[in-house]
Amino acid sequence: MSGYENAPATKMLASHCGICGKALVDALSVERGVGSECYSHLECDTVNVSEETRKEANRIVYKAALAAQAGEISQVLMFAKALADMGLTGLADKVGHRFRNAERYTEIVITLENDMYRVETPFRRGKKDDFIAAWRAIPGRRFIRSANYVPKTQKKALFEVLKRFFSGKIAKGPKGLFRIPAPE
Ligand SMILES: [Zn+2]
Repeated sequence: MSGYENAPATKMLASHCGICGKALVDALSVERGVGSECYSHLECDTVNVSEETRKEANRIVYKAALAAQAGEISQVLMFAKALADMGLTGLADKVGHRFRNAERYTEIVITLENDMYRVETPFRRGKKDDFIAAWRAIPGRRFIRSANYVPKTQKKALFEVLKRFFSGKIAKGPKGLFRIPAPE
């Protein structure tokens, strides 16, 4: 045993407010996953609930903050729904509102068709040649009826292209909405 398995998991810290998405600056806000202004709204929304419900709401907002940070948009919306299910609809709206229209407006849609990803993206006009070359460089890639098809085995190469041209954009994948990370 290396001891690695027993090492405590690195605690993830919230760097952005779970409600408005602004960067968190002070230690207390980081610990709560909510900036001080939003925290006062959160307190208002939970003023008539039990201490236990309020604590649970705080935990969910914190998890939503981490999910938003990781770009797991579908998870954020799931946490918003959990808050709504607890009767905290105002708070649920605040947590979900940044991403509510993301699904409707996303221009990047990845679906799985048999053993290929079908990838719909806008065209990168300014970088036309680089863009086309990047897609063509993926082994087994095909272009059919205005969509790129990439073998499932080339997932890594697909993400390299997405990160290069669409970093920060929200995409809809087979498992839900996510934000495309920055290139390494
Ligand atoms: Zn905030």
